[in-house]
Amino acid sequence: MRRILWFRRDLRVRDNPLLSFEGEVLPLFIFDPAILDELSKDDKRMGFIVHHVQKLKQELQERGLDLAIFYDTPKRVFETLAPLGFDEVVASGDFDTYATARDREISHLLPFRLVKDTYVFEPEELLKKDGSPYLVFTPFYNAAKERFTPLHVKEYVPATQTLFPYMYAAFDMNSLGFSTPTPATLDPHEALVRFALENYLSTRDFMAQEGTSRLGVHVRFGTLGIRTLLRHLATQKKEGVDTEPFFRQLMFREFYAHLLHHFPHLETQNFRYAFEGIPNAKLHRAFCEAKTGVPIVDAGVRELVQTGFMHNRVRMICASFYTKHLLLPWQWGERFFAAHLLDYERASNALSWQWSAGTGVDPQPYFRIFNPYAQSAKFDKEAVYITRFLPELHAIPAKTLHDETALLKGVHVHYPNPIVNHKEARVKALAHFKKHTQSI
Ligand SMILES: Cc1cc2nc3c(=O)[nH]c(=O)nc-3n(C[C@H](O)[C@H](O)[C@H](O)COP(=O)(O)OP(=O)(O)OC[C@H]3O[C@@H](n4cnc5c(N)ncnc54)[C@H](O)[C@@H]3O)c2cc1C
Repeated sequence: MRRILWFRRDLRVRDNPLLSFEGEVLPLFIFDPAILDELSKDDKRMGFIVHHVQKLKQELQERGLDLAIFYDTPKRVFETLAPLGFDEVVASGDFDTYATARDREISHLLPFRLVKDTYVFEPEELLKKDGSPYLVFTPFYNAAKERFTPLHVKEYVPATQTLFPYMYAAFDMNSLGFSTPTPATLDPHEALVRFALENYLSTRDFMAQEGTSRLGVHVRFGTLGIRTLLRHLATQKKEGVDTEPFFRQLMFREFYAHLLHHFPHLETQNFRYAFEGIPNAKLHRAFCEAKTGVPIVDAGVRELVQTGFMHNRVRMICASFYTKHLLLPWQWGERFFAAHLLDYERASNALSWQWSAGTGVDPQPYFRIFNPYAQSAKFDKEAVYITRFLPELHAIPAKTLHDETALLKGVHVHYPNPIVNHKEARVKALAHFKKHTQSI
């Protein structure tokens, strides 16, 4: 058999199903202009991808293979390759609308085989008894635990493969026109070793601590395989570590990916209620420029823009503030996060924004409105996180930074007063939502 191995969200050689097919192979990676054109020229993800594509090429070479790298539309690439006598294209799956349409298009040019790698479960593996998708996380999670077998994390053994003769010249990454800054988290295995899984439950909500794994970007691009991660959990479990809280979060990722597979419109449209945010460019700009005057929100946005990461609890606080206090359309906030998050995944991002906006599958309705001051007082008591990203507030007592009344009076010449009042915004949001709560 002669196959094209299309690397996309699996930028690694270890435990990669693409390398388990015996025969002649053409491994390739495509820089797709449809995706790249959407990115700003200093997008941090490009530094990450470029680094890992080059590393992948080198690791394939060490195995006697190579990687052909293209900058073109996948359609044009496969139109060029199709006449060269390939039996099939093999790639791992992605569920968003763009990826699904792209793969369908390629399957008209060459037989297309999707292999499971990006997620632990296929969407069809976890359905309710009546064959419909789960809409609530807990039953989905229970089903995932019930159906999980060692086969789900079995390591793929590399097969004997010979390299199809092609042009495998070095690719000039500078020709892509990106400044490709190198992000801090490059090595997935270092990140895995550094992560104190045993403390996850007790530290994961405190944004000043590195209590979470920071593995999102590696899981996103497959630089750390999901099966490798789960085998690591199994080893830790044998050593007595409670791995369940972390496993649960990984299953949230599956839950959202499956939902998007079943309901592709959730990328941009509400699941549950007809209410929409109220477009307001000025408020949106204040949020994106970290000028809301609410320290925990502004610190979160600064973290995101500076580092490409935002702590999960801060994501929840920011998204709630954006959709409830500012009453802005969740889709705008989702796009802002998408532009900056290194670990951006369409499913997790859109569905989490819908969760925050109260428009998603979550049965808890729209009246869950976080108080950002109570949140920061609880999870960043000494304002360590806030002042890390808002150093101008360093001299202000932590208590003041969690105190809306004090902030409304003004605390620093170079820091704005809050642009909304929590209580008033809450009342306004509830009235707005009540008016539009007919289900869709
Ligand atoms: C508004 C909003 C937007 C988000 N956007 C994204 C996104 O674009 N991409 C993304 O991967 N996650 C997203 N999340 C979920 C979560 O915030 C991140 O996965 C997590 O912060 C990544 O950091 P970590 O790797 O240290 O997480 P850890 O806590 O160490 O979790 C390990 C892994 O589990 C998965 N995970 C953890 N929590 C969640 C969750 N709530 N939902 C889905 N998967 C989860 C991720 O793959 C993560 O890397 C979003 C959450 C919110 C509230």
